[in-house]
Amino acid sequence: MSAPRVVVVEDEPRIRRFVCDALRGEGCQPIEAGTARLGLDAVGERDTQLVVLDLGLPDMDGVAFIRELRSWSHVPMLILSARLAEQDKIEALDAGADDYLTKPFGVGELLARVRVLLRRRIGEPQPVYRFGGVEVDLARHVVQRDGNEVHLTQIEYRLLAVLLADAGKVLTNRHLMREVWGSSQADQEHYVRIYVRRLRQKLERDPSRPAHLLTETGVGYRFQP
Ligand code: CA
Repeated sequence: MSAPRVVVVEDEPRIRRFVCDALRGEGCQPIEAGTARLGLDAVGERDTQLVVLDLGLPDMDGVAFIRELRSWSHVPMLILSARLAEQDKIEALDAGADDYLTKPFGVGELLARVRVLLRRRIGEPQPVYRFGGVEVDLARHVVQRDGNEVHLTQIEYRLLAVLLADAGKVLTNRHLMREVWGSSQADQEHYVRIYVRRLRQKLERDPSRPAHLLTETGVGYRFQP
């Protein structure tokens, strides 16, 4: 298989080089873009497996970039954000980004996120998920833990299926509300917290320190395989 093509859109040369060097070390083929316009051109030019995007660009708002790219491409997007405001991350994720890293970040963290996004892209669809002694057969609607069947309510099952389908990706509370309950009223977002807690009690080895159903503070949740 040829090296995955990754377009890195970042106006700060030092960070751009850091990210590209790390990607090359991982066997990727990084393409450097110093502006949003160059980035969009680079993605449109050839089949691209991943976009790494800095939210603070000189020629276009980062969220506008995500919306434009999403209007014609499903390529996975990893956001680099210097901003501390959680609202920016939520906006980026709701606009169609798949994951984010807050600057400053380490090379190990960067590459772990990159691997998850590339795997999702390349991997075969999996009807059966296995993690921490749990086996979820989506096709048969059967959940087992250490070989024993676990009973999940409709809502719990649907929430788990949504999290599994986007393994590794941060899902916002609003997205989960919409997918599981069919509405996204902000005043009902505490349902998500309640049901994630129930899933942890049924599936995690230590529900108070979950290893797979992870909280992204202030943003939402992520299933970590
Ligand atoms: Ca920047």
